[in-house]
Amino acid sequence: MERIEIPYLEQVLKSTDCTKVCPFCIAKAYRFKFANMHEGKDNFEKNDEVFQFLQDNNVFFSKGYYLSGQGEPSLYSKETLEQIFTSVKKKISIFNNKATFCSSGHIFNEIDKVEMIQHLLGDCFKILVLRVAFDAERDRTILNYEKDYLNTDTFKSSNNVVHIGLTKHINPQTFSEDLERFIEENPSVSQIEIKTLAQGPIDTQQTKWLKKNGLNNDEELAIYDSLVKRFNPDNVYNFNINGTNVRKFYSSKLGNEVVLTGGVLVNYEGSPITIQKLEEINNGAK
Ligand code: SF4
Repeated sequence: MERIEIPYLEQVLKSTDCTKVCPFCIAKAYRFKFANMHEGKDNFEKNDEVFQFLQDNNVFFSKGYYLSGQGEPSLYSKETLEQIFTSVKKKISIFNNKATFCSSGHIFNEIDKVEMIQHLLGDCFKILVLRVAFDAERDRTILNYEKDYLNTDTFKSSNNVVHIGLTKHINPQTFSEDLERFIEENPSVSQIEIKTLAQGPIDTQQTKWLKKNGLNNDEELAIYDSLVKRFNPDNVYNFNINGTNVRKFYSSKLGNEVVLTGGVLVNYEGSPITIQKLEEINNGAK
């Protein structure tokens, strides 16, 4: 049976509780519909069955498994997170030995939960957090959260991926220096992805904020220009800066997202993802 290769599987949780109040909250703008699907139940007990189905059909996720929320996943209990990551561990080979926890940053205050997942998954486990400013106080103020997580022992001892969302709170003129300083000050960050925040077709308060605050194309190009001038890139969107991989973030083509929610595979529109659809995504990627 030929391998079906997909970028990643994103498990979206039902709870919308979060410790941040991001003005552009993607969850509020796009994913509200997931909360009510399947009677609002997460149905984690179905994870094993779904992962087995994917393995039986030779589906492989090159960037791995992502646990994400419409809110903050680390607000779920340690027992629930253990159940989720035990299922992931059993099938970690279909996830290319990669499991990423997308957090508001609150997980760094939950050392017991981090240690439990690290114990299960070791080097396969990474924590991903989105920032809109390099400066701790600025990021904390814009995204409305209480505690700077960069200075916690948990952040310093975890393997972290940081997404830098491009808004007017990033200065394109000083971006390369600011980025280099951030990398130097935060050695636990193994990867940085530069992200254009989706402004999307839905007109909400959140997307309006992005339209007003997002960087324009010229400003984004100025950022990559400054990186090319300062560093020796593998290519124009992929850099190695003092051992940290820095690259442009690419999202899945709309409709090709593979999301597990409520125990069922769907895309962001809530349409079912079948093996036939996975084959189409695979063919499109070739
Ligand atoms: S961290 Fe995520 S879920 Fe929480 S407010 Fe920000 S965008 Fe929304």
